[in-house]
Amino acid sequence: MKSSKVILVLIDGLAWHVAEHAMGYLHALRENNQASVFKLQCELPSLSRPLYECILTGSKPVVSGIRNNQTVQLSTRESIFHLARKANLKTAAAAYHWISELYNRAPYDAVRDRFTHNESLAIQHGIFYHEDSYPDSHLLLDAEHLRNTYDPDFLFIHTMNVDDMGHRSGGDSAAYRNAARRVDTMLSHYLPAWQEQGYRVIITSDHGMNNDHSHGGLLPEEREVPLFLAGPGFNHQPNSFRLQQVLIRDLCALALGIPVNQNNELKSFLA
Ligand SMILES: [Zn+2]
Repeated sequence: MKSSKVILVLIDGLAWHVAEHAMGYLHALRENNQASVFKLQCELPSLSRPLYECILTGSKPVVSGIRNNQTVQLSTRESIFHLARKANLKTAAAAYHWISELYNRAPYDAVRDRFTHNESLAIQHGIFYHEDSYPDSHLLLDAEHLRNTYDPDFLFIHTMNVDDMGHRSGGDSAAYRNAARRVDTMLSHYLPAWQEQGYRVIITSDHGMNNDHSHGGLLPEEREVPLFLAGPGFNHQPNSFRLQQVLIRDLCALALGIPVNQNNELKSFLA
């Protein structure tokens, strides 16, 4: 198992019941033994800010104190950004402004924080947005700018249009499914270059979407989310170990070569 750079893509609000069939490019990689896909149960409540914290720190919302979307405060947990900084690795994020609030500075001040370059912060290089309709296409270009300019070891990429479409049209709508298909096509533009440049790529979601145009509870369509592991940096053999949302931080850390978790079953996902 070699350490490598890592890109973690969070497609906000992408339910398993859509990821299962709408992500044609990612599933093409899977059919060709170049990616694996797993169904995760998100932690509760199935809300964004608590689950950003869960994914990035490995702490469930009832433990982390980030229990709802209105909790505007810095995280008190050790995030993957903090772990990477401690290991002298470079961090970057193209993400919703709540990520800046959790790990850099709270509350978010768009004039100060939208473009962040500060070596002393947990996220050293950031481009943050605060409109849910900020186009995923532009967000991915923001991420490419960060990657090409700063060569981060850990890059977090966080799209919002799938969640936004789900709130407008519901989890069982053409608009919601088409938003997911668009992200899949966008990823097909970038993923090969990311892998060529030595990144392990992990793609997941915080929560799903119900037919009431919302999420927060326990329905399968709210709670079941995908986790894709893409590229030769991962073992794509069948693995009976059950991945969980609280383990994503440690999986990223192990891939970066940070020995945060000695769980051999978790390590077995890395080639
Ligand atoms: Zn939402």
